[in-house]
Amino acid sequence: MDALGTGFPTREPITITVPCSIGSRRAGTHRVTIDTDWSVTTPHDLELERIASAFGSTTSCLRLVDQIAPAVADLWLAQTRRVGPGIRRASDGRWRISQPISACACREGLSWPGPDKAAEHFRSPTHWAARHGARARDVRSLIRRIETELGTQFEAFEPPEPGCRAIHSPQDFEWLWRMNLSPGRATELHQHLGLRDPLAAIGYLHIEGWQIDPAWLSDFAAHSAEAVLWAANTLIEHDLRHADDIHELYLAGIHWKAINALAGGPYQLSDIRAVAEATGQSNRAVAATLAAWLGVDCRPSVAQVISVWRAQPYGRQVPSNAAIEAVYAKADPRRQLLERTDVGALLAAIGTPTQTAGVIAQGVRSLAEYEQEKAS
Ligand SMILES: [Zn+2]
Ligand SMILES: [Zn+2]
Repeated sequence: MDALGTGFPTREPITITVPCSIGSRRAGTHRVTIDTDWSVTTPHDLELERIASAFGSTTSCLRLVDQIAPAVADLWLAQTRRVGPGIRRASDGRWRISQPISACACREGLSWPGPDKAAEHFRSPTHWAARHGARARDVRSLIRRIETELGTQFEAFEPPEPGCRAIHSPQDFEWLWRMNLSPGRATELHQHLGLRDPLAAIGYLHIEGWQIDPAWLSDFAAHSAEAVLWAANTLIEHDLRHADDIHELYLAGIHWKAINALAGGPYQLSDIRAVAEATGQSNRAVAATLAAWLGVDCRPSVAQVISVWRAQPYGRQVPSNAAIEAVYAKADPRRQLLERTDVGALLAAIGTPTQTAGVIAQGVRSLAEYEQEKAS
C-alpha cells in the first residue's frame, strides 16, 4: 500500500444517499458519510439501534455499518488488486481460494480447473459478503452508489510503467490483472528478484499465490528467470515442506529432472554424496541413477546402489521395467519370493533377465546373498 492510503477510493470521506428501513418498514432515504477508514456515520444512535436489534428490530443502517461497509472495504482491496491473487494451484492441478471462507461456496475446498474462475470468485461481492455476513446485493448496491458519487470504477486496470521488462508481452499484464495481480506488483517482484529477463506470467501467480519467499528464490533468480519458474513450479508440485530439499539439491548441481523425481522421496543429498564418494561418480550422475530407480518403482539402499556399481562399473545401473517383469515371469511368476527392489538390484548387478532368473533358481534372494555366494 502506498503513502496515499490506497485502502479507500479517495483521500476525503464521501457522503452518499442510502435507503433506510427499520425491520420490514421503509423509512425513506438519508445521507451517510463513509470515512477513509470505511467507518460510516449515520443519523441514527447506533448504540440504541444495537440494543433494539437484540430484540429483533434491525435497522438497515446497522447492517450497513457492521457488515456491508466492511465487505465493500475488503472488496475494494481485492478489485483494485491490492491484496492478491487470493488463489493458488494445488498439486492436483486445480485452483482454489487461498483462504476459503466458511460461510461461502468456497468453504469445502471448492476448486476450479483453471485460475480464471477462481480469481473471479476471489474478487466477487458474493465472497466478501459471505466473509462479513452481508447480502451480496447490498454490497453491490453500496459499490454502485460509491462509484456514482465518485464517477470512477472500482475495477480500473492500472497500466504498467512503459518499458517494463517484467513480462514477455503486454498481454501478460492483462492476464495477470485478470488473475488479481497488478502490473505494479509483478514489476516490484521482478526487481526484487534482480531478474534481467522477463518471468513467465504464471510464475508471478505461483509466487504470490503461495507466498513463496523471494529469499528462497534468490539462488534460482541468480541463474535465470526459467530457473525461478521451475523452482516455483517444483515447490508447489511437491508441497512447500520440501523447499529445503529442492534448494539443497539445486545447489549441489543436480539436474532439474532428477530433482523433480527425488524431492520428497526416500533419498537425501547425503545418500547421493555417499554413493558419489564410494564410486567416484558425480553427484549429478548418482542423482540421475537414484531418480531412475524410483522410476521403475524400486528403492535400493545406498549399499545396494554401490554394489551394483561395483558389479557393473560404467554399465547400465538401473534395469528397465520390462527386464524386471521378465525376471519375475521366469523365476517368481506368483511374486511370492522376491521384493521388486531385490529383483531390480540383482538384475542390475548380474546383467540379463535369464542369468538373474538362473541365480534366483539356485536360491539367491538378494544382492547381498549373491555377493556372499560369489565370494565363497
Ligand atoms: Zn438509516
Ligand atoms: Zn468464497
